[in-house]
Amino acid sequence: MNDDLIDEITLPTPADESAELAEIRNFKGKYPKQLWWLFLAEMWERFSFYGMRGMLSLFLVDELLLSDGEASLQYGATQAFVYTFAFIGGMFADRILGFRKSIFWGGLLMIVGSFTLAFSPKDLFYIGISFTIIGTGFFKPNISTMVGQLYRDGDSRRDAGFSLFYSGINIGALLGGGVCIYVAKAEGWGSWNLAFSLAGIFMIIGLSVFAFTQRTLGPIGQSPVLGNNSPTKSRLYRYMVYAGSLIVIPLILILVSNSQYTDIFMYIVGPLALFYVIYELLKYSPSERKKLFAAIIFIVFSIFFWAFFEQSGGSLSLFAAENLGNDLGGIKIDPNVVNNSSNSFFVILFAPLIGLLFLWMNKRKIEPNSIIKFGIAFLLLALAFYVFYSTKFFAVGGVSPLWIFTLAYLVITFAELFLSPIGLSLMTKLSPRPLHGAMMGMWFLASAYGQYVAGILGSNMSLEKGASLPEKLDAYTNGYYDLAIYGLISGVVLIAISPLIKKLMGSVK
Ligand code: GLN
Repeated sequence: MNDDLIDEITLPTPADESAELAEIRNFKGKYPKQLWWLFLAEMWERFSFYGMRGMLSLFLVDELLLSDGEASLQYGATQAFVYTFAFIGGMFADRILGFRKSIFWGGLLMIVGSFTLAFSPKDLFYIGISFTIIGTGFFKPNISTMVGQLYRDGDSRRDAGFSLFYSGINIGALLGGGVCIYVAKAEGWGSWNLAFSLAGIFMIIGLSVFAFTQRTLGPIGQSPVLGNNSPTKSRLYRYMVYAGSLIVIPLILILVSNSQYTDIFMYIVGPLALFYVIYELLKYSPSERKKLFAAIIFIVFSIFFWAFFEQSGGSLSLFAAENLGNDLGGIKIDPNVVNNSSNSFFVILFAPLIGLLFLWMNKRKIEPNSIIKFGIAFLLLALAFYVFYSTKFFAVGGVSPLWIFTLAYLVITFAELFLSPIGLSLMTKLSPRPLHGAMMGMWFLASAYGQYVAGILGSNMSLEKGASLPEKLDAYTNGYYDLAIYGLISGVVLIAISPLIKKLMGSVK
């Protein structure tokens, strides 16, 4: 690939852009240097988050003595709350805190959460998790939004930047997911306290990277000017947000520890969030409204995507545990390790390449627009589930070879790379700047719903205890066949309505 591609981007400097901001956005080359700092901060945050997430189910079963079913419900509830609070974190960042303060506050809460768990995992489990949920809500969407703000409207390098950022996410996920559970379970010296401390220590590293490099971001992410309010009043509002987020912790604690409330919570938050966005949308011009409407269509499709994709944490891991062999090209490997880590591994390998491919195609004016990329993502998702389904043709006695399962993960990873980083990028392209945080939050809220639906889809596929391996294989693979068909339909629908969405998106590609 040509090394000097897209080096010469020059976009007109908007009138309201300060010289400092213009200097950041006029960067030469493929990536702005600030992206690397955000990449590192997010990488360590994801280490902490996925470290905690990877220990969750096992901790609930082994230490809090929950049944498998209860543990998976609680795991699902935690995931749903984490991503739901991303919407709230994004909204407060837009309106009151600004992205930087939100990241600091979120990071701090995550550190407190991790060390609370480290201090006494059994006694303080739910309180530690509640801190982590709120903290992630303030951190996760806002660091992603800041990536988008490094680019000027119309800069075609933005998708590639998000692809690179996405591989940082997955480096952290792979390391954290592996290291923390290893430390927790290590024979002889393993300890939950130590493992949760690691999540805290790496969060400190992530937040320190951000603290020491944030000055390179110029005005990006500073707190918004709150109307005609004085600095004292603005400060008061900020303190109210800090205090408010601490006050809701007991409420989250109740919600997370009683997973039957998750349903009610999910039914309330989604419509409220949509209502908020529509209310905000009315304040904007027709062309901005159309773009926001297009963003909502992307968000809705992403719910379906995540509902299928997130089978990885549920039905695919149960499938891997029983219906797969443990030989991958002559190497003995636990199929659940493949299930848990191959996606991140492939993302790290291919995300930067896909980003560069988009840049290369852009230079030749053959880069597909975002709707087509989304359509391709669904087609690839369908193909991946077809490959998961086809494991049944290779099975002996209900056990399939691991290579075909791994191949399906390779395909599903490409599907993810055509949707997830592009979605992050789109949220910052399609929304007016005062709504960046809320829309990024909406994007993650869709993930919350996706996780929620994923659990329902997965449990519909599973059989009663005592079913034979061939019966289980049949039940799961038939479920994957259905998902392949739904994925195909969604992809075709998206591509068919692409001219319509394109119109809504105006100049955004
Ligand atoms: N794996 C990605 C991350 O952790 C995407 C998560 C999501 O949007 N569901 O950032």
